[in-house]
Amino acid sequence: GMRQVLVTGCSSGIGLAVAVRLAKDELKRFKVVATMRDVEKRAALEAAAGETLGRSLEIHKLDVCCEDSIRECENSLPDRHLDILVSNAGMGMIGPLECQSLTSIQNLFNTNFFGLVRLVKEVLPDMKRRRSGHIVVMSSVMGVQELLFNDVYAASKFAVEGLCKSLAVQAMNFNIKMSLVEPGPVLTEFERKVYEEAKNMDLSETDDETARIFRELYLPYSEKVFSSLGQSPEEVAEQTLQLIVSKDPPFRHQTNHLYTPMTSMKHADPTGHLPLDAFYKIIFQHDRVFNVSLGIMRFLQRRMRKPKV
Ligand code: NAD
Repeated sequence: GMRQVLVTGCSSGIGLAVAVRLAKDELKRFKVVATMRDVEKRAALEAAAGETLGRSLEIHKLDVCCEDSIRECENSLPDRHLDILVSNAGMGMIGPLECQSLTSIQNLFNTNFFGLVRLVKEVLPDMKRRRSGHIVVMSSVMGVQELLFNDVYAASKFAVEGLCKSLAVQAMNFNIKMSLVEPGPVLTEFERKVYEEAKNMDLSETDDETARIFRELYLPYSEKVFSSLGQSPEEVAEQTLQLIVSKDPPFRHQTNHLYTPMTSMKHADPTGHLPLDAFYKIIFQHDRVFNVSLGIMRFLQRRMRKPKV
């Protein structure tokens, strides 16, 4: 039979792409409940879902910050049966820590971390009883390797990873699978929202040097990273589908293999110096280090695209 999937945060980006990709599965393996906080924002999902709408894809309301909303959505499923949860809803935040209000930091954790906690508390007992299920969590490479001026966001993804890694051992006993999908930069609303906020950010709470590092070093670096290494949400969705259907899904899956060297640095040096030094060089000497490596990558890409004669 078809497997029942629930995806959160489907009004845009990766969540939308995952819901649509699973609903359009050629082998028709999935019935997708694509959820969003505000169903008024369903137009983009409906357009992308096309013919699958009302067939293999249904749109439901679900706010990950509200337990009642999660319960209501779960209760609306036949027998509350859920085979696969894709916890995707999340938000970003960049900028000097001293410029972020405690309220906005707590809001971010309320979505990225406590949102996952609420979902898992609702679905895990049923999955344990059935001794089957798969919890797939949209984490980030920043759940493994933090990045400056992403302090709060990285911390929220580290919290997500810690929670999942701890639960995964127990889940094994109940035949429940857990997987963390770790994308690098993905070209979605996420990026647009974060830069919009960064441009309008009030930097008066920090010193001039920090403000300058953020504006003149970090932001141009980050824009270069997105424009040169950014994946499409569809690419992430395709890999998420492959992970879901694989016989033995990995606990961790990085969608962008270019990040693997960076994320393995911390395992290579228990003192923690290696990743700190590397990131210091990348940001503070990026004209020398980053531009050179980017130049070489672009050159190779151009060469590889040239048609063979
Ligand atoms: P996005 O902003 O397009 O999508 C995030 C979605 O979550 C939005 O549709 C938003 O409405 C929804 N959402 C926010 N709060 C919610 C709530 N309380 N209840 C329900 N939905 C809520 O961005 P995206 O890039 O598609 O992000 C999806 C996930 O991927 C996030 O968890 C993000 O951290 C992660 N991620 C993104 C990137 C990237 O570069 N874009 C990289 C790594 C990981």
